[in-house]
Amino acid sequence: MSRQPTTSSAALEADLDTDLDADVIVVGAGPVGLLLGVELRTGGARVTVLEQLAEPTTESRASTLHARTMELLDERGLLDQLGPPPPGGTGHFGGIPLDLTVADPAHPHAGQWKAPQTRIEAVLHRRAVALGAEVWRGHRVTGLAERPGCVEVEAVGPDRVPLRLRAAFVVGCDGEKSTVRRLAGFDFPGADATKELLRADVADIDIPGRRFERHPHGLAIAARGPDGTTRVMVHEYGSTPRHRSGEPDFAEVAAAWWRVTGEDIGHGAPVWVNAFGNARRQVTEYRRGRVLLAGDAAHVQLPVGGQALNLGLQDAADLGRRLAAQFGDRPDEALLDGYHATRHPAGQRALNNIEAQAQLLLGGPEVDALRAVFAELLRLGPVPRHLAAMISGLENPYPARPHAPARQHIITTATTHRRTTMGTLTGKTALVTGSTRGIGRATAVRLAREGALVAVHGSSSREAADEVVASIEKDGGRAFAIQAELGITGGVHELFLALEQGLKERTGATDLHILVNNAGVMGGVAPEDVTPEQFDRLYAVNAKAPFFILQRALGNMPDGSRIINISSGLTRFANPQEVAYAMTKGAIDQLTLHFAKHLGPRNITVNSVGPGITNNGTPVFDIPEAAAQMAALSAFNRVGETDDVAAVVAFLAGDDARWITGSYLDASGGTLLGG
Ligand code: NAP
Repeated sequence: MSRQPTTSSAALEADLDTDLDADVIVVGAGPVGLLLGVELRTGGARVTVLEQLAEPTTESRASTLHARTMELLDERGLLDQLGPPPPGGTGHFGGIPLDLTVADPAHPHAGQWKAPQTRIEAVLHRRAVALGAEVWRGHRVTGLAERPGCVEVEAVGPDRVPLRLRAAFVVGCDGEKSTVRRLAGFDFPGADATKELLRADVADIDIPGRRFERHPHGLAIAARGPDGTTRVMVHEYGSTPRHRSGEPDFAEVAAAWWRVTGEDIGHGAPVWVNAFGNARRQVTEYRRGRVLLAGDAAHVQLPVGGQALNLGLQDAADLGRRLAAQFGDRPDEALLDGYHATRHPAGQRALNNIEAQAQLLLGGPEVDALRAVFAELLRLGPVPRHLAAMISGLENPYPARPHAPARQHIITTATTHRRTTMGTLTGKTALVTGSTRGIGRATAVRLAREGALVAVHGSSSREAADEVVASIEKDGGRAFAIQAELGITGGVHELFLALEQGLKERTGATDLHILVNNAGVMGGVAPEDVTPEQFDRLYAVNAKAPFFILQRALGNMPDGSRIINISSGLTRFANPQEVAYAMTKGAIDQLTLHFAKHLGPRNITVNSVGPGITNNGTPVFDIPEAAAQMAALSAFNRVGETDDVAAVVAFLAGDDARWITGSYLDASGGTLLGG
């Protein structure tokens, strides 16, 4: 650690009577302390981070990142190093689904994202050290005293040798049991926990995923992680926190799980077990002289929906630039005081919404009516927008960092140098049936280019689906292939097994935001020659399968989702050779109309797109005379390209089309307009 005399601290020159060991000592090397270290070093301050743990934690307590946090990590070029994080599914408010992208659909990081805390810490640690921050592990702070011009910190190192360090400021980022907060005498009013959730990461169990599943006696949540362990969380209605000396035993979690769900997980291998409650406390001041607090040291709350981590990182980003400025040319006390003025109300607001969520989430049958009313309110446009903005940290514009690069809409992964597109559908998931070729393929490519994670589906050739996925990935998009034959018994079930598995592996959830019912077969048989078997087959693939796909998808679709059914211009102009086919497409339009009404209360839009003759690569389009004849039917004197139709589907899938439902959109290039 540097021991040179400090010359940089202009703010303190007057009363500084001694050399300092650092400009700022940060206590705690969790994500908040490390981000603060990054900010301070970027601003030119000398930083030492003291951490009592000898090794970084291997427990991933928090893993959800919200839009504002993603934005600040992106501005610092840290997202690439994180992965970049995959979408984290739909959010919630007290366990009621809430699509966080509605906060600001145009935001490049709208929604929520997944990054394990261990990974965030590793990335921030690397950056802080690269910038010159000292990170001392195995150092436990034992004393703290403000002296003229500095704060003196006493600590015990790994060798048990006591040491004393001095810095112009000390910041406690040492979590909810903060030593700095206690030693500096911060007032920390609030309420102790009255309810608790038991949580365990368990290997070797195979139980169904559960998203805030309410049972008669309690709440159960289960999600299988990519590493095969399942995170279970359970709360028994009416139970109060137990007094234990440490974390709960796994046997306690397994017993509660059994009482709530009737399922035995006792044979599983626990990787990590803990309990957390709805305690709510916040310091009355974020700054006392030369000592400041950030993250859980300043506020304690139920860690619901990942808000605690996000709030803490946003504290660190705000404090970092204010504190670093004290060591520049123009130190400014008022700027530093602005930290409390800005972050205390932000924390208070978050604590309020978390408390409201805790009531909805952990209440027993007595809150059922309240939940029902809330669920209704969450369908009214401005309500989800308001709450999503609050949770995402998007309520107030965040002050730009002077040294921050412009926000990037395209990010490059460090490992592969692939470009990941941040488009209007970033954070969304989509299924396009029949997307191995033709209009479906173009649609899958287009939705992926807009940022959606796309399930590419076909029935006959796995290679064809893989090829579409490879082409999307080459372009920086995200997709996976699924195979299922539609129009036969069990086809829809097979489709969803593969879809849910693919989504789960990539997002940790099975939410589907966009369904495009595209797969279809043509007829091409004269009206006199259509056989019952041909008729049944056309109906099975083109009408029956879309109906049951839609019906099944509704269980996966959050409110505000999009359903687009590919119809045909043949529902508007006659071609006797395709009468049976056209009848199936007429059925599609009915599917659209009636489900649009049915799903309106959930803000799910349902629309039909009717292509005209569209070049899907079949040989007839290579015959000049035939192509000219077909082109002449369109007002533009050309046949449609698959991209023409995909663009219409992408529009309907996006937020700009939120006011269109139950519609038939003609995408036939003005076919047979007359005249
Ligand atoms: P296409 O090139 O023939 O492709 C059809 C896609 O659907 C393929 O991916 C195919 O995959 C899949 N599919 C067909 N039957 C299936 C089944 N039984 N189970 C699972 N997947 C199946 O089609 P397109 O011309 O692009 O047409 C796409 C949609 O637009 C259709 O609904 C069609 O009716 C409609 N449309 C097309 C036109 C046009 O001129 N092209 C005009 C109006 C409407 P597999 O081969 O692997 O099964």
